[in-house]
Amino acid sequence: MNAKKSSKQLELSGKTILVAGAAGFIPSHLSEFYLNKGAKVIGIDNFITGSRSNIEILSKYENFRFHEANIFEKMPTFAKQKIDYIFSLASPASPIDFSELPVEIMRVNSEGTLHLLELAREKKARFLEASTSEVYGDPEVHPQDESYHGNVNIIGPRSCYDESKRFAESLTMNYRWFYNVDTRIVRIFNTYGPRMRPNDGRVIPNFVGEALRGEDLIVYGDGSQTRSFCYVEDLVCALDIVMFSDVYTPINCGNPDEYSILDCAKKIVKILGSNSKVICNNKLPKDDPKKRRPNIAKLQGISDFSPKVSFDEGIKKTAEYFRNYLKK
Ligand code: UDP
Repeated sequence: MNAKKSSKQLELSGKTILVAGAAGFIPSHLSEFYLNKGAKVIGIDNFITGSRSNIEILSKYENFRFHEANIFEKMPTFAKQKIDYIFSLASPASPIDFSELPVEIMRVNSEGTLHLLELAREKKARFLEASTSEVYGDPEVHPQDESYHGNVNIIGPRSCYDESKRFAESLTMNYRWFYNVDTRIVRIFNTYGPRMRPNDGRVIPNFVGEALRGEDLIVYGDGSQTRSFCYVEDLVCALDIVMFSDVYTPINCGNPDEYSILDCAKKIVKILGSNSKVICNNKLPKDDPKKRRPNIAKLQGISDFSPKVSFDEGIKKTAEYFRNYLKK
């Protein structure tokens, strides 16, 4: 194990990092993080869920290049381009996307991942697959550590994402074993922050939007289901640690502070000083995981990672972004 390593110790100017899904919420922050470190970043996105405004932010950096392309259909050509690191972050990931874009999700995580792995093989680049806590399904083990194989409903409403990410992990490992591609895998737990789509249907954008508008916060089910929320800046640090570590087996990335969704709603109302009421609709979506909290001992075994941004602070920053967004 390589203790306390990340790109902090590395010179990144002269390195080229390809970020698939660069117009998305987490990837746009990750791209900016590396641009600020002097790396050249190549973004790819088809804008199926990503935002053009995120690409506008990145385009202000001289070292950013962008390709509008659908990686599961046709990759851009990078004939003479040197590529050192590839982040596979292109999948839509909100439960609303699962019902609206199931085939695109399955294709990007299978054919899209295949194309990125082929590129990594050709360029001798290190490849990181951004997998998800969804591979654990509705977990019977709590908190979830990386040795748990999960409890996924193969034909349930979330399976387009869960199963295709499980496939992507397997494909990544097999490219490593069979073709010697240098790979890493992270499993990302619930993450939030500025640049989330206000209407993406996930709980933090929904609750923050409702609280800001003075509307009722609608808790699905009885609100006893739990989640653990990581602020995006902390998550980016975790992704960086894994990319620059020597560990190629999956690593959980997230914040282990766990809240019931009912408590989460009440906290958001309080943090934002809103007059909104919190209402439980008693209709939990099918296969909605009852509990989720990452065990991050493996990540902490290779680094000094601990989340820095508190829930209060993160929610205030997210709300500030949504307020400005609403004004536009
Ligand atoms: N949820 C909720 N109200 C909302 C949106 C979501 O109560 O307006 C619940 C949802 O049922 C789940 C949790 O919040 O239990 C987290 O949902 P999200 O869609 O953010 O992500 P998930 O972790 O389920 O992928």
